[in-house]
Amino acid sequence: MDQNNPLGPQDASRQLAQQVNIGSGDGISSIYSQLTSNPFFTAGFGLAALGVGARIGQKGLRQGADLIRRRMIVDLEITRHDHAYQWLLQWMTAYQRAQLAGSQAVEGQASKQGFLSSLVQRLNPRLHHLQIQTSQVPLPGGTSNAHFSLVPGYGRYILRYGRSFIMVNRQREKSFDLASGTPFETITLTTLYAHRNIFEQIFAEAHQLAQQRTEGKTIIYNSMGPDWSQFGEPKRKRPLESVVLERGVKEKIVEDLQAFLEARTWYLDRGIPYRRGYLLYGPPGTGKSSFIQALAGHLNFNIAILNVSERGLTDDRLNHLLTKVPQRTIVLLEDADAAFINRRTPGEDGYAGATVTFSGLLNALDGVASGEERIIFLTTNHIERLDEALVRPGRIDMTVRLGEATEWQIEQMWDRFFADIDTNGEGRKRFMAEVKEVGLTSSISTAALQGLFLYNKGDIDGAISMVKELSSGHGNI
Ligand code: ADP
Repeated sequence: MDQNNPLGPQDASRQLAQQVNIGSGDGISSIYSQLTSNPFFTAGFGLAALGVGARIGQKGLRQGADLIRRRMIVDLEITRHDHAYQWLLQWMTAYQRAQLAGSQAVEGQASKQGFLSSLVQRLNPRLHHLQIQTSQVPLPGGTSNAHFSLVPGYGRYILRYGRSFIMVNRQREKSFDLASGTPFETITLTTLYAHRNIFEQIFAEAHQLAQQRTEGKTIIYNSMGPDWSQFGEPKRKRPLESVVLERGVKEKIVEDLQAFLEARTWYLDRGIPYRRGYLLYGPPGTGKSSFIQALAGHLNFNIAILNVSERGLTDDRLNHLLTKVPQRTIVLLEDADAAFINRRTPGEDGYAGATVTFSGLLNALDGVASGEERIIFLTTNHIERLDEALVRPGRIDMTVRLGEATEWQIEQMWDRFFADIDTNGEGRKRFMAEVKEVGLTSSISTAALQGLFLYNKGDIDGAISMVKELSSGHGNI
């Protein structure tokens, strides 16, 4: 027996084992008690535990939120390239306007609906943040036609639709569509999963609104990069009767076009490209553009205006554009002679740019044979400047001159403006006598006549007395 150790050698080794064996319960508790009695350690451990707890909590919350998001929330993303993108923007503008008007109407009333709407608006400054969309069509002579429309700007909005709230996020991406130079854009709509069916309703309404805006109207497209884009609001159809051409001219063109539209299978069966080209020429203001617009409306067609002198438009792009003309659309090439004059002259900025070549235009006009009809109208004030190759049969099937107003046209125009007040036709007789006396027949444009009649609206004597001024060139119309 070991005298220094009253427990004996076996007990001593057990005690040692107890002191070093951290695996046993007593070992842990002794270490624990030593550690807990150490204030520095306790504080550190406490902080670490708090950190871990917070992280677990945070992760849990995130996962929980994800789960709720996945289970309870639904997103719908729509990109700029989808047809419905513009419909949706227009719908949102119209919807927000209606909401604003509605909430103003109930302002001051203790209505629950009014309170909620105004609350959403107060939380939602962007409801008042609109973006302007401008489309421009260059006109011959350097001027341009512009159209503006207001649509919701970029950012997040909350939209109240019936009993649902929708988060709208209109985002502009960093990447660009290289062909058109416009940024990619998306709109994301988010709502509760339970309310997901409202998306269908919204798109149905947006589509209906878009249709209402085009019903009975003519859409004008112009080229934008590699695509056709709608120019401004659709125009009210111009009645065919409102354009006064020489007797029988309108009917001749309308019949030819109608016969062409009915002969689709005839063309396809014979492998002939299903296309028809028309050239309208004559002095300015004789109704060339107006007639094409009225004709398009009459046949339920739209119009795509091709500006071949547009800088940056190459043969390839032109070809591409002509293969992508929207359905039931007349292609209009206005001032066809101007397209190839001075085309290599640099603009004000010194940039000559890429342009369409003459052979490129001919190729594009001939186009690829497609099942869709292709109707092309060319207009010019100077037919003598047009290359024969451009107007050869097969490219241009019908050439019509619209000239200065004939006697018959002047009478027709008179009736359109004065028939309701000149019921017995006495005013027309006096007016025509004056016209003949000063020799205005076939030397005044229908546009100038229209100007004269507008200036003297409702004033028969005024119109008659102004004829002389017009003939002497002093009429400032
Ligand atoms: P063009 O294309 O031949 O230069 P437009 O069609 O642009 O002429 O006509 C210019 C204006 O004159 C339009 O407002 C149009 O209403 C009127 N106008 C010209 N010709 C006619 C016509 N034959 N019948 C009715 N209005 C006409």
